[in-house]
Amino acid sequence: MRGWMDLVKNTLSSKTSIVCTGENQRWSDYAAPTPGAVVVVGDENDVAKIITAAKKTNTPFLIQSGANGWADTFTLNSQGIIIDISNLKTITFNPDKSQVTFQAGVTNKDLIDAAWDNNARVSASTCNCVSVLGATLGGGLSRTQGVYGMNIDQLISLSIVDADGAKRTITPKSDRELWWALTGAGANFGVVTSATYKSYAMPQAENTAWTGLVLFDQSKLEDVVAAIDALTLGPDMQMDLYFTASPVDGQPTVIVLPFYLGTEEVGREKFASILDIGPTLDTTEVIPYNTWNTAGDPFCAAGGRKPSYTVGLKTMEPTAWRNVWNEYIAFFNSYEEANLTTILTECYSTAATAASLKDNGTSSYPFRDIKCHAIAIPWYTSPEIDSDALQFGQNVRSYLIDSAGTKSPSSYINFAHGDESLSHIYGSSLPKLQKLKRKYDPERRLNQWFPLS
Ligand SMILES: Cc1cc2nc3c(=O)[nH]c(=O)nc-3n(C[C@H](O)[C@H](O)[C@H](O)COP(=O)(O)OP(=O)(O)OC[C@H]3O[C@@H](n4cnc5c(N)ncnc54)[C@H](O)[C@@H]3O)c2cc1C
Repeated sequence: MRGWMDLVKNTLSSKTSIVCTGENQRWSDYAAPTPGAVVVVGDENDVAKIITAAKKTNTPFLIQSGANGWADTFTLNSQGIIIDISNLKTITFNPDKSQVTFQAGVTNKDLIDAAWDNNARVSASTCNCVSVLGATLGGGLSRTQGVYGMNIDQLISLSIVDADGAKRTITPKSDRELWWALTGAGANFGVVTSATYKSYAMPQAENTAWTGLVLFDQSKLEDVVAAIDALTLGPDMQMDLYFTASPVDGQPTVIVLPFYLGTEEVGREKFASILDIGPTLDTTEVIPYNTWNTAGDPFCAAGGRKPSYTVGLKTMEPTAWRNVWNEYIAFFNSYEEANLTTILTECYSTAATAASLKDNGTSSYPFRDIKCHAIAIPWYTSPEIDSDALQFGQNVRSYLIDSAGTKSPSSYINFAHGDESLSHIYGSSLPKLQKLKRKYDPERRLNQWFPLS
């Protein structure tokens, strides 16, 4: 451990510090990494210095930005270091607001707020606390992906530190195959310290959407699921389905969160097949871009144990979802401390993302034609509950895999648990990714996040 520190201690910027490992708060405590040190980086250049020193001393390391990754693939122990890049927060828009360059610690909220202040829109993800690049390097789902494409489709260039500690700027033209690998399996191929991303100039008055919580009694579950299954989400539409404690009475309930990039009147028409089922509460309204993610803020609460499981869905079957509801209720009712347990299903328009399939493999993200991603999130504090929580998540996953409408199970890397087969995570990109891994990181230094070998 001391070896790497001795190599860099007199070379790091004064903005970089080493903090007590006990202060390393993450979104989920379940299977969290247990490093010997956490280096909080204050300067992009220090990332390269630390990775170089770690390589020379054979010290394992993990990059941490938003600290939201819940996978159980971390093997980092007291021999290893977390390189915390969350303080790298610079954001710069170009004069016509068509591009934005930002550092790796920038969260969705940071970028959205900056875009709002610049009369622009960027296509970021749906939870404020997530780092833009943490989500993007695995694909990056976004409410506006039907119009603009996924987060990876926003990338123009990436400044990375490679597995050897060398700084490089990568564009789709400069290194086609490394770009392909970084855009879907990024964490295995480099540490991105900053990126340039597409931005869309837009006056604040036009930068709005119709959205909000719509609550249903659970007796309507089959109707709601059938309506979601039948609904083709246009490019300007997105929606979420939640099984969670009601904001009204704390009891388990079914919530739909429709999202439409337009007026309330048209939004209601677009989602009429769901709204006509008869909600018990409808809080939808037209709201500004810088508040679109606010409804998801409770999910950003850090701490507690949240061993989550996911399935990518092309279809949703009411019978399977009744079984999922029953699993949810059983777990929710078994443990008072698990009352934040949630099943979240995010559904996206595949209009723009499926179209970019035709670009013939500019990115390694494999699931552009998946409509919905379901995530079972058991949420509690006592490790004694772990085995029941894991069983609950696995049961939900089984019901959904059987009704997913896909040839084989698919698990979006950023939502996956870590026990899946690698082909479920990387899909058809797996063989080529493994080949490129041998080329770009033969010593497997970048091997904490769904390692490719
Ligand atoms: C509350 C919540 C909401 C979410 N909502 C969405 C969503 O709307 N859309 C979506 O697509 N995903 C979403 N996710 C999943 C999210 O994309 C992943 O958890 C993502 O990995 C988090 O990145 P992070 O930097 O915040 O967390 P971290 O734990 O810091 O990062 C996760 C892993 O990503 C890698 N990584 C992070 N930054 C870099 C970097 N700069 N360079 C190289 N590797 C890096 C590291 O291997 C790290 O272990 C959500 C997660 C949570 C907890």
